[in-house]
Amino acid sequence: MTDLDPPRPEDFSALLNVISSCRLGVDGRISPAFRLADFPLHFARIIRHPRSRAAIYDRVELQSALRALTSTDESWMNLSDEYGDNPTFDSEFEQELKETFGASVDQAFAGLTELLSRVDNTTLVDATRLPYAGEFGRLFPAFRELTATWLHRSGKQGKAEASESLSAEIINTAVLTEDVRSGYPRDHDWLATSVGSFFELRALARSSEELGLPTTGCPGTGWLNWFGTATSAMTRKLQTTSFIDSPLVTRPERVSTALPGETDPRYGNAVLLVSAFEQQPIDDTSAECMDDAVLRVRRAFSHRRFEHEIAPAIEHLEALVAEFENDADILIRLLGEGVLSSGTGAVDVLADLAANLSDPYPNPILPSLTELPLNGWELRFRFPGIASFGKGSPDVSESTHTADLASMHEPCRIGLPPLIGEFAELLALLPNEVDIDGAMAHLGATGTGWRPILEHLVTDLTAHIWAHEEERHQ
Ligand SMILES: [Zn+2]
Repeated sequence: MTDLDPPRPEDFSALLNVISSCRLGVDGRISPAFRLADFPLHFARIIRHPRSRAAIYDRVELQSALRALTSTDESWMNLSDEYGDNPTFDSEFEQELKETFGASVDQAFAGLTELLSRVDNTTLVDATRLPYAGEFGRLFPAFRELTATWLHRSGKQGKAEASESLSAEIINTAVLTEDVRSGYPRDHDWLATSVGSFFELRALARSSEELGLPTTGCPGTGWLNWFGTATSAMTRKLQTTSFIDSPLVTRPERVSTALPGETDPRYGNAVLLVSAFEQQPIDDTSAECMDDAVLRVRRAFSHRRFEHEIAPAIEHLEALVAEFENDADILIRLLGEGVLSSGTGAVDVLADLAANLSDPYPNPILPSLTELPLNGWELRFRFPGIASFGKGSPDVSESTHTADLASMHEPCRIGLPPLIGEFAELLALLPNEVDIDGAMAHLGATGTGWRPILEHLVTDLTAHIWAHEEERHQ
């Protein structure tokens, strides 16, 4: 790790985030399912989720954590004292690190570095082989909150009173009340995301044990059934929302695919952002288009489950603007000719875009889908699995989607649940048939009448995963 910059204070926060996002369970205590040796597998589930990969936030955090591990001047005392009542480097973790890697902080950090460097190369395993630990909370925040609230409330009231009325009350306060004290408002977008994540969860694991959830003190019906009850309540609430007649998706006139240019990892996010303009020449763009593109980027990056830091994207934009001084052809090579009308002024637009995204004031209130409908870029960013399904230009009349999709996502129990989650989220997000068909057209598919097909895919793909389980047990 000699090529890393020296650590900064935020690198230590990143290290603590990375460790605690795998190690701490839904109740904020150490998850009994966490074993140090499995750390790379747990973190890989977060970082290699298809929707985490859309931008590079978790990767930046991982790099930052690795930088923190190059520091050798921390002592065990500093590590455990500095971070409040629930230090990540608590005595139990210290003990485990010492036993695994050796007594000094140096040795422990070298060991952790080695573990974290394996995240990209490890083979993902399903929940039967390794139960989820802290990553359950990162991947399913709505259900982490529900579980934590249940544990807190039922613990207070005693198990005998943790009844159905408590269940309904908790669902009301934790996921249906719009005015929550902390976290995201329970708006249409949050509800749709949460509903989608339930279908992913249901396809991923059959038991609460596999999800690493506490087995004592759970609701009488079990966690998964209870999550199902909460999801039905969220779905009912989505169906009563009043804007069903407004278009939530732009009309897919200009269906575009990825930009044609050269790829270069130094500018990857800049290219990603430019495609938010949907192939309009960026040097000829109106202030209004610029504002919409900025808002769409902000909204896409603040997805309720897969949030992305905007800073690495700004860095790439600035790097590209700086490189333009030396290499005037770089924009055409990276972005393709279609996005430049005359070739002049494009670099100013990129600089403006970086400045716009950097400016925290006025803190923009993200527009709802009725105020600014989803365009193709935002859909492709938010639903990468459906976008890759769409690349094969599927037609609504083809009947073999289930078998095709399953064979493309093997092993099915690892590969299919995120795609099922995307289908379910899209269905929950867009109540209107026309919007679903518009979204599918933006994502590359042809024909109309996609809603029932997608509904069947959610059911059939889930059944497909469980059919494998039956085979396994015969
Ligand atoms: Zn299969």
